Parts: sequence; structure tokens; C-alpha cells
Amino acid sequence: MKPDSRRVIADLKELKALTSDEHGGAQRVAWGPVWRKTRAWFEGKLKSELGLGTERDGAGNLWASMPGQRRGSLVIGSHLDSVPSGGWLDGCLGVIAGLEVLRRVKANGTPPVTVHLVDWADEEGARFGRSLAGSAASAGTLDAQKELAHLVDRNGVKLPDAMRENGVPLEGMATAAAYFKRLQARAYLELHIEQGPVLESMKKPVAVVLGTMGVERHTLRFIGQAAHSGAAPIHLRRDAFLAAAEFALACRDISVKHSGKTPRSRVVATCGVVKVEPNFVTAVPGTTDISIDLRALDGKVLGKMLAEAKAASLKAAKRNQVKVEWQPLLHITPRLFDETLMGFVRDAIKQVTKGPAPELPSGPLHDAAEMAAVVPTAMVFAQSSPGVSHTRIEDTPLPALDASIRAFLLAVDRTLAHLAHG
Ligand SMILES: [Zn+2]
Repeated sequence: MKPDSRRVIADLKELKALTSDEHGGAQRVAWGPVWRKTRAWFEGKLKSELGLGTERDGAGNLWASMPGQRRGSLVIGSHLDSVPSGGWLDGCLGVIAGLEVLRRVKANGTPPVTVHLVDWADEEGARFGRSLAGSAASAGTLDAQKELAHLVDRNGVKLPDAMRENGVPLEGMATAAAYFKRLQARAYLELHIEQGPVLESMKKPVAVVLGTMGVERHTLRFIGQAAHSGAAPIHLRRDAFLAAAEFALACRDISVKHSGKTPRSRVVATCGVVKVEPNFVTAVPGTTDISIDLRALDGKVLGKMLAEAKAASLKAAKRNQVKVEWQPLLHITPRLFDETLMGFVRDAIKQVTKGPAPELPSGPLHDAAEMAAVVPTAMVFAQSSPGVSHTRIEDTPLPALDASIRAFLLAVDRTLAHLAHG
């Protein structure tokens, strides 16, 4: 059966009409009413087209399965939830492409191994701030009591209450890992949009993803002395903002220095938040908080970048006669994808595009990053154009959507053939 993207694209358009409003984009925020409606729509498709029922594990992940001939399984997944006013493809592309996988598997008779399709719960963390909750629970890397029990949304609703409303008690989340183990997964595959501008700039529709970058996220406080902008001579100032600004420029140099020419060696450094005190035009800043977010696919490089950023902060502090304090926010180790599965993706892309398969690291985290810790994993990226996401203008041109879906379906075929012999 030749891979075909038409049903996937038609379903995506149907979902867009069902869950977006014209001005605001997709509204499928996890644990809310539109998300429930999305899942009901999706379960309706599984039932009416394939006669498949679904199961929810302890973390609220939604599973549909097609039993195979032998032990072990292939898991296909992504997420139906979105950020508020999000795009029409982020997450649901992978789930709906998974539905097409099940259609193809059924048309071919019993698959060699069981094929599971999963819609991960609360990938975005848009309402309560903890992303990848469902897939992390399955991978066994989530401590629900410690990480989720205290989370509250903007309206004061507690996460455990929002989950209970959906029939998912917090106390049951730990069972998701055992549920996942029982599946005996031997491979995990995910199709997702790139969410960035690289493929568009390369004029390529689809890429093989090398892994997700490690992250070092910290906040720094430069502490100097607030003073009158007219009265304080430059050489007597202890300007906390100037130190932060020198630090930010040094971080750009660090990212340029460590960025190699290959996709594997691409690194980034971002100072996204700056808060100046006292924050008015006639005051020399006495305190400045600045964030740093460093990402790299190579853990050793990431460690070097962090050490150099720390040295740069001390140098900037000294030069401006201020102090600096570091506070860690987040540390994530890089997750590299499986070479064998990446080979199948590469071959599939070559077959569909009749050209070489571009390789990209993923800056954003994905459910696949959680899966990579427990099962051989690979990912396919579809071009984003314009290269943005988490906004209603997020899009992928139809030819790129078509190529990425077909490449993903072929990669699944190759993986199933591989698992048939393993
Ligand atoms: Zn996503």
C-alpha cells in the first residue's frame, strides 16, 4: 500500500475547524473542555473507521492498540493538546498520522508486532507549567507528588482537581510507568513540526531529528548600588544592568564559539528575561535579574558553555564593581535518538524527496525525549513556514506536509519490517 497523506490532511483540517476559533487559533488546552471534545472526536474516528476502543493509563494518556503476531510492540505517539491560541499542527500532526498508520496496518492484516498509538496527556504544560507530564509518567521520570501536586492555574484551580475532573487522580499517575512497561515497546516513532525556521531556510520539507538538546537554565542576580543618574559619576557607579548586558553579549559569543558547521554541533544561548531595579529613567540600576538558557546536543559542550558563562558573569561583575549570584532553574541532559531507527527515517526521506535527508537537532523538548530514555526512539520533523509555533499563524505548506507524512509512514513500514525479524 503506497503511503498517502490525503486522509491525514483532511482529518487535520476537520480538527482545526472543530477546535479553533477564527481569531484565536487552536484551543485544545489539556484537561479543559475543548481538549475533551478533541479526544472524543479522535476516539470516534478510531471506533467508526477501525472498530478500535481506547484505554487510559494512570496519567491520562490515551492508548489505541492493534495486536500483532509476536511479543513486543511499536509505539507511535504525539499530543492532541495545544497551547491557548496555538497552531493547527503542533502535536496533532503526529497523532493523526498515527491514525493513518493504524489504517495501513489494518489493511495489511495482522502486524508482526503490536502497534500502539498514544495521545500523550498534557504535553504542553500550558495551563499549569509542567510540560511532558504524561510521557514523563510513562517513562518513570515524573514524581507527581513532588512536581504536580502544588501546581495552580491563573484562576486558582489546582492541577490535581483539574485532573480529577477528567477521571485522572494524581495518586494513580505512578501506575503509568508499569502500564508502559507491560507494552514491551521496542521502538517509538513520532512525527512533529519543526517549530523553527531551519528547514524553511534550507528549502527542505522534512528532516530526521538527531535528538533533543540538553538544557541549562539559570537565573542570575547582579547586585550593585542604585544611584541618581545625574549625581553619580560613571567611574563611581556600581551599575548592575551594565554587568548583565556584558554577560548577555558574552553569552552570544559563547554560543557562536561553540556552534560548529554541522547540525549536530549547533548550540544556542538566550537571555530571555531582564528585570532592572529600581526601573525608572533617572536611576542607575542597583539590581538586575537576567535569565540564561543554554542548549546543546552534546553534553560535554553544554558543560563547557555553562562554565564559560559562569566565568563571563564573574568578569562582568568585577568590571562593574557588582556581585553576582546564580540560581539554577532547569537541567535537562541531551537525549540522542536511536541510530538504527534514524537510518530508517533517513532512507524513507530519501525515497520520498529523491534527495539527501537533512538532519536537525531539536531545540524544543518533545514526548520523544522522554521516550528516548526507555526505548529506542526516532523523530521526523516537518518544515514549519513561517518558522514559528505556539501561535495561530503556525503552518506547514501542503507539499511539505505531504512529504513529511509519507516519509513518516514509510519509516514506520521499515521499522515494522525490522521488528518482524528482531
Ligand atoms: Zn508539540
